Amino acid sequence: MSTPTGASRANGIVIAVLREQVPGEQRVSSVPEVVQKLTKSGFEVRVEQGAGEGAFYPDDLFAAAGAKIVRGRAGLLDGATIVLCVQPPAPVDVGMLVEGTIIIGFMNPTGNLQAVTLMRDRKVTAFALELVPRITRAQGMDALSSQATAGGYAAAILGAGHCPKFLPMLTTAAGTIRPATVLILGAGVAGLMAIATAKRLGALVEAYDVRRAAGEQVRSLGAKFLELEINAEAAGGYARELTPEEKVKEQEMVSAAVARADIVITTAAIPGRRAPVLITRETVARMRPGAVIVDLAAETGGNCELTRSGQTVTEHGVTIMGPQNLPARVAFHASQMYARNLQSFLSLLVGKDGALTREFTDEILASCLLVHDGVVRHKPTDDLLCGGKP
Ligand code: NAD
Repeated sequence: MSTPTGASRANGIVIAVLREQVPGEQRVSSVPEVVQKLTKSGFEVRVEQGAGEGAFYPDDLFAAAGAKIVRGRAGLLDGATIVLCVQPPAPVDVGMLVEGTIIIGFMNPTGNLQAVTLMRDRKVTAFALELVPRITRAQGMDALSSQATAGGYAAAILGAGHCPKFLPMLTTAAGTIRPATVLILGAGVAGLMAIATAKRLGALVEAYDVRRAAGEQVRSLGAKFLELEINAEAAGGYARELTPEEKVKEQEMVSAAVARADIVITTAAIPGRRAPVLITRETVARMRPGAVIVDLAAETGGNCELTRSGQTVTEHGVTIMGPQNLPARVAFHASQMYARNLQSFLSLLVGKDGALTREFTDEILASCLLVHDGVVRHKPTDDLLCGGKP
């Protein structure tokens, strides 16, 4: 990292790694490999006791990397300069932060208004990693992408684990087994990882995305791209919402592809909106019994009409899974990637001279600055908080 080298630099900066509290959250915001680099750079790193347990990073590995293991939040946060987390902080934790403390992690800004208000009132500085701009310079800090990669991988494994078929073609003494067909709807970061994983497992893979540019990437992974005469690429490389006519065309093509698939993994999302419905209940009825749908968009409404977030349901013999927090299923590597993203982010906050910047003018820092100095800096969140006020 480009953070200072030598213990005399990064002087007096205390980094605290929280033990995640949200049920089912197995990840941790730093790992021993990264802690070692931070302590070598002169940071004091504190890790809450048991913080890495869920991701299989025991306390003794953190201690060997130079961290101080602290029991309890109060001791951990007392005097901390920078707090690292995965999930947005709970109001009770924000209540323990003193003015000027910097907290970095996923913040779910518009869905976590109580904590945002409290951070504003306590003059805490919060950086929301989901707001890191998707520019080349910020790739190393793009936690949305690293965690989507983990989620896409986990989705393919989950689908394979629930499919009553082999994925690869097999030539055996008992005859030839045809490969399974896996369909990926939405070929963004998670979708591409799901494609790559299903290909490695030997399946025939098809994929569809409204952004035509995704076709090139899908084909480069050896999968078939389903073409529709629509290009719905909008600003920033994200998808726009389709018109009603476009939606009808899309439904017809998607429905036929879903009906012939053994596993369907859906990842379609439009920033700030409910996930588009791509698989209707009628389409599910056309699927073969034993087929599996893994709906990665479950938490934002689901790409399948029959998805229940956090549940697995069976309809017409089709298993429909709406998993929550898939990256936590591969917590070891998801945490490692997340920790490296944070390490990279910290190198923007602390200059080569070891001084912590308080001028957040850098494009990346400015974009993900959620709260600072008693002001909510993220306009959509501020608009929500001020809703109704003139
Ligand atoms: P996302 O999670 O917002 O959406 C997932 C995918 O769903 C997207 O590919 C989107 O096009 C697709 N989708 C939306 N509506 C659909 C529909 N009706 N039918 C089928 N597919 C639909 O996306 P993401 O994975 O976060 O990536 C979004 C874009 O950002 C991509 O172009 C990606 O390459 C780009 N990106 C750039 C960088 C960078 O430059 N640093 C980093 C990460 C991602």
